[in-house]
Amino acid sequence: MATLPHFIAESPPVRDQLGPWSQGAELAYCRSLDGMILEANVAFARKLGRPPTDLQNRPLVELVHVDDAGQLQATLDEIARPPHRTTAYHRWLTPQGVRWLAWEEVAVQDTTGAITSVRATGRDITLQRLAEEQFYRLSRAVEQSPVAIVITHLDGRAQYVNEKFTEVTGRTLEDLLDGNVDVLRDGHPDTASYEAFWSTIRAGGEWRGELATTRGAAGTVWESVKVSCLRGSSGEITNYLCLREDITERKRLEGRLRQAQKMESLGTLAGGIAHDFNNLLAVILGYAELCQQRRSEPAVIDKGLREVHRAADRARGLVRQILTFSRKTEVRFSSVDLNQVARELVMLLTETFPRTVVFQLDLQENLPPLLADASQVQQIVLNLCVNARDAMPAGGTITLSTRARGGATLPGGAMADLQRDYACVTISDTGIGMPPEVRQRLFEPFFTTKPPGQGTGLGLAVVYGIVIAHHGFIDVESTPGAGSTFNVFLPLNGAASPVALAAGPTEFPRGTESLLVVDDEKALRTLLSTALSGRGYRVATAATGLEAIELLRDGSRRFDAALLDLNMPGASGIQVLKTIRSSCPLLKVMVISGLAGADTRASLKQLGNPLFIQKPYSLDEMGRKLRHLLDTPISDG
Ligand code: ADP
Ligand code: MG
Repeated sequence: MATLPHFIAESPPVRDQLGPWSQGAELAYCRSLDGMILEANVAFARKLGRPPTDLQNRPLVELVHVDDAGQLQATLDEIARPPHRTTAYHRWLTPQGVRWLAWEEVAVQDTTGAITSVRATGRDITLQRLAEEQFYRLSRAVEQSPVAIVITHLDGRAQYVNEKFTEVTGRTLEDLLDGNVDVLRDGHPDTASYEAFWSTIRAGGEWRGELATTRGAAGTVWESVKVSCLRGSSGEITNYLCLREDITERKRLEGRLRQAQKMESLGTLAGGIAHDFNNLLAVILGYAELCQQRRSEPAVIDKGLREVHRAADRARGLVRQILTFSRKTEVRFSSVDLNQVARELVMLLTETFPRTVVFQLDLQENLPPLLADASQVQQIVLNLCVNARDAMPAGGTITLSTRARGGATLPGGAMADLQRDYACVTISDTGIGMPPEVRQRLFEPFFTTKPPGQGTGLGLAVVYGIVIAHHGFIDVESTPGAGSTFNVFLPLNGAASPVALAAGPTEFPRGTESLLVVDDEKALRTLLSTALSGRGYRVATAATGLEAIELLRDGSRRFDAALLDLNMPGASGIQVLKTIRSSCPLLKVMVISGLAGADTRASLKQLGNPLFIQKPYSLDEMGRKLRHLLDTPISDG
């Protein structure tokens, strides 16, 4: 008997300590004060994957997760105090891995009241514990989410808002409830939009949108908003979940992106234009000088004037281009001759691109016009040509071709509308080409493979945006090392006829009517007056708006038409036009001006939309339009 541990000798027989628990389904065991198992019931032994006898006299530290072993000892202090019981949670090492067990621990006392051992009864709470952990993880994710989250009742009253929501709006859940705030209403521009939103989510749908909200000091904030339904176990809608994410920065970048692109392309264009202009000016100056020197030789003067006219005509085309390009206004659709765009750009780019890059044009004759924004179509071709140049650092060929294609003839998978006809403009290069991983990301904004400072990654993003806005699509083929081909498909303008070619210079029609020419630029005034009197018209001139107004009010001369410049110091053309409309309503008006901004266009519209000719113009164009104006009876409108 002396070999037995002395605690057995002093304690009641081991089996008795578990009492009624020794056979039950509940886990139960009994441990000594120094951490040995004295007795384990069948259920507990099964949990640990051993026969009950195998557990006897084993130290608990072998069976409990190391982080929890210390706790077993700590429990003893608590049990020493009445009511001599406590609860505890430990992780146990079992054949199914670590399990969480919850225990009710009670002191076992001898007849003198001294504590001799601890009896623990418990159950496996691993599943519950995992569920709780999952729950805490999820609620932390919602609480600490970088996205503002609101959960509402079915009537839209807030039920929960997360920290981010309070941070960005400055409102807590209490604020919302106290103020009876309709939290889902935030940012909807009008009642119709808000009602459409409700009918979507009430029907169980998901609503997404971008809303602008005013937020005190932060000013206007753009948010991407998603609202969806939360459903109960039987599928019924129980709540709405609203996620709001600040996208102000992205919006700002998008705006900058377009502008940056325009600047970049403008830089490229400006280089070409300055070069072209210099050449044209050299031609004009040269011939003007020649004519002055050889005044007496009609043949020289004749040739000189023809050349001056030709050069100035080209210069006019260039100025038109810059004007279309720099116009910051909204997209304006008109008939666009794609071949013309291609020809003009190639002419410009030939000047700016390295000499080792050669252009080849392959344009389909009589290509019907596009319905498009001319400057944006230019931008597409320009950006693709710039990329082609960049892909050929050692030089090569850029081929620009145009073709009309029926939607039904286009390759499968294309997003073509089968009923429509498309113009396909193809820009292909003999450059480095691109691997599939580049091809996949090509159109992403800011995606570039070029070193910093050389690539913006915006070129193709802009091309893509424009093409989509025109209901077109793009197709890219590339072989690494051999080159790339970009096919851009843009819908043709079904209704319109092919773009009319500008009429060649002829003498404009004669007339005898009385005209008033108003322009502050002396050279232009003299030119108009000389040209018009030469064709039989009677011409008076005014150098300022005020002078014109006086002439009109004076009434000593009757005019049939006024040719009116808009931008003049003092009284502007618009003011002169107002006087005309009020005091001589029968006078016909032709407005001649450079770029007219949106304000001016609106004023002109209000003043009866007079005939408008854009500077620079040809005398011939002006003369024909004037004749037409004079011959058209005034409508009674
Ligand atoms: P960026 O020219 O500023 O890099 P883009 O959006 O114009 O931005 O082009 C994105 C990327 O697509 C380029 O960096 C290049 O890797 C690739 N890429 C575009 N065009 C071509 C081309 N013709 N040949 C080869 N790679 C091209
Ligand atoms: Mg580019």
